[in-house]
Amino acid sequence: MKKTIALASRITGNDRGSLGLHPAIYFYGPTGRHSSAMFLGSITLFSEKLVQNNKSFFTKFTAVRAGLEEILVINKDLIATILQKHISHKRVNIFKELLDNVVTHLSEGKEITQDDLIVFSQLDGKLISGDVQSSSSKITDEQKSKLFINVALKNALTCPICNGYLDVDKSVSYDHIERVREGGSGSANNVQLTHPYCNQSIKQ
Ligand SMILES: [Zn+2]
Repeated sequence: MKKTIALASRITGNDRGSLGLHPAIYFYGPTGRHSSAMFLGSITLFSEKLVQNNKSFFTKFTAVRAGLEEILVINKDLIATILQKHISHKRVNIFKELLDNVVTHLSEGKEITQDDLIVFSQLDGKLISGDVQSSSSKITDEQKSKLFINVALKNALTCPICNGYLDVDKSVSYDHIERVREGGSGSANNVQLTHPYCNQSIKQ
């Protein structure tokens, strides 16, 4: 039970160390429907890293977070197709591995293509990235997905420390740009919104 609470507070909320994952990016499919494979895949990945006390993973994740989130947003349709190609009980692990691989590759300075995402998802040879564009040529689906992601992220702020998206409703930290101990004031122009993790773990 304690572990579950520790994990939940690492994923969302205002607690110390919270990554404040934006649900539209990590938990929702292209048409705005909650994806249990994405949700549980994200939870499982961070849970494993916490249990391993793998601090360097969280440092790496934060360093590449903006790039990772861009990949997740741009490739929502492809990722949904990838998950559908797997039988349902494998999907959680597939999404977990996909996230883990993208973080590792980005932190090694590698670019990631759609073909890489297919390889990470163990669908090499079974799915080619061109398939997705043609299968999603139904304009309505594409419009729906663009509408969802545009609406979800339209007013979303990004964290000035990692440039990842902020879930302002659930998970922010008020960071003094100039530290209080160095004479910074609490006035609005010295305060910025950040992820709790970024404020507490990266900046300190
Ligand atoms: Zn951040």
